[in-house]
Amino acid sequence: MTQFTDLGLAKPILKALADKGYTQPTPIQAQAIPIVMKGRDLLGIAQTGTGKTAAFALPILHRLAEDRRPAPRRGFRCLVLSPTRELATQIADNFKAYAAHLGLSVATIFGGVKYGPQMRALAAGVDVVVATPGRLMDHLGEKSATLGGVEIFVLDEADQMLDLGFVVPIRKIASQLPKDRQNLFFSATMPGEIGKLAGELLKNPASVSITPQATTVERIDQSLIYVEAQRKRPLLAELLADKSVERSIVFTRTKRGADRVAKYLTAAGIESASIHGDKTQGQRERALAAFKAGEVKALVATDIAARGIDVNDISHVFNYELPNVPEAYVHRIGRTARKGKDGVAISFCCDDERSLLKDIEKATRQKIPSFDRRNDKALAAAAAVADKLAPAEKYVDPRKADPRNNVPSELRRKRNRNGGGQGKSAQGKGGQGGGQQAQGRGEGRNGGRGKGGGQGQGKAAAGGGDFRGPKRGVQQVETRWSPID
Ligand code: AMP
Repeated sequence: MTQFTDLGLAKPILKALADKGYTQPTPIQAQAIPIVMKGRDLLGIAQTGTGKTAAFALPILHRLAEDRRPAPRRGFRCLVLSPTRELATQIADNFKAYAAHLGLSVATIFGGVKYGPQMRALAAGVDVVVATPGRLMDHLGEKSATLGGVEIFVLDEADQMLDLGFVVPIRKIASQLPKDRQNLFFSATMPGEIGKLAGELLKNPASVSITPQATTVERIDQSLIYVEAQRKRPLLAELLADKSVERSIVFTRTKRGADRVAKYLTAAGIESASIHGDKTQGQRERALAAFKAGEVKALVATDIAARGIDVNDISHVFNYELPNVPEAYVHRIGRTARKGKDGVAISFCCDDERSLLKDIEKATRQKIPSFDRRNDKALAAAAAVADKLAPAEKYVDPRKADPRNNVPSELRRKRNRNGGGQGKSAQGKGGQGGGQQAQGRGEGRNGGRGKGGGQGQGKAAAGGGDFRGPKRGVQQVETRWSPID
């Protein structure tokens, strides 16, 4: 078994790894680190949870440390592009932790926070910048950032960039980068357009492909409950009241849906918070901090907001609504059963969602054990109470739902205006801090809510038996999911 000490990484990096208790590289790290250390371009097919961040962060820091030189003013030596603020923060936190004994600087650049601190952080030059494309374009337009000093360019979660309409800004950013640079490109899936982009950006790349460990999916106890759309809320409250639910993520398709479900749960006495692209940076950070601190039992999130959230010990994932794309199902349930733990994923399916379910079962090559809670009188009664607690939402057929609902409105506006998110000038939305040059961890300002209460009462009668279904064990048919399908 390869150890980190076998890879030739600089001593201060090994020390930082030891601080974190990491001794063995994950498969993608073992494959990618030697390639990146040699300065080669890399195409990585991997998703969050495989250890891909360290797979690029460690050899990048090694290269920067081996060849120390000051970054140009307003410039940076390494640029990492991330589709979301949360992922950008997480990547930057990883870099900071691994750079703890190196004295290299790391900064984040993303929207939803003030420009001033970001400009100040960039002014003297930074070693590593982790940015979302829109805000970086703004800084380039304002000349508060320059790309002339970039030696290493990383594009993370490229498929998500495509979904968010970032391909045009990425091409613009890439066109301003020095020709002589190293490129690293990561994506969980390789749709045609992403393959094309990779072809344009990468020079003679080595490629590494890691399918999510089957064991992760095998450790997830998946089940599905058929239920009427209007009765999903009391069903969710009932399930959340179960003692086995310690910390859960509830996925909705839309931002409004996330708010409504969170509001209902709070009214039903279950501590919850919602997180999505319309929330301010401060709100997102507070919700995440409260969730991490265990003050919030259910975090209601849209797919994009949940991307990159790396919270351990999530006992349950609830798919309140099934995702429009089957790959998102795998990303969602992968939020649980991390770090060798078990996890439970329960999906709700109303009649209109059956075609989505079919797509998911086809893509994951499995049949999810199901339970039928339709025509459940207790749930019907609870649904009537639910309507009083928080008015019922207007149900939207998922097949007619606008996928753009998942795009943060800030981006949507930009896209509409610029036909591709070019983002010319700054809007300065306010919010706190962010983007400051920093060493060390800087994990969330604790702004927890702690309203008390906490246990849901499970208003509807239990009924329906064990909703979790049989434990999926060793002889499970085929749950391996290959993102390259
Ligand atoms: P990522 O895929 O980069 O989001 O990483 C998933 C999780 O695995 C993060 O919490 C990392 O800190 C953790 N991790 C990364 N590399 C290792 C390793 N070699 N050993 C143990 N944990 C790791």
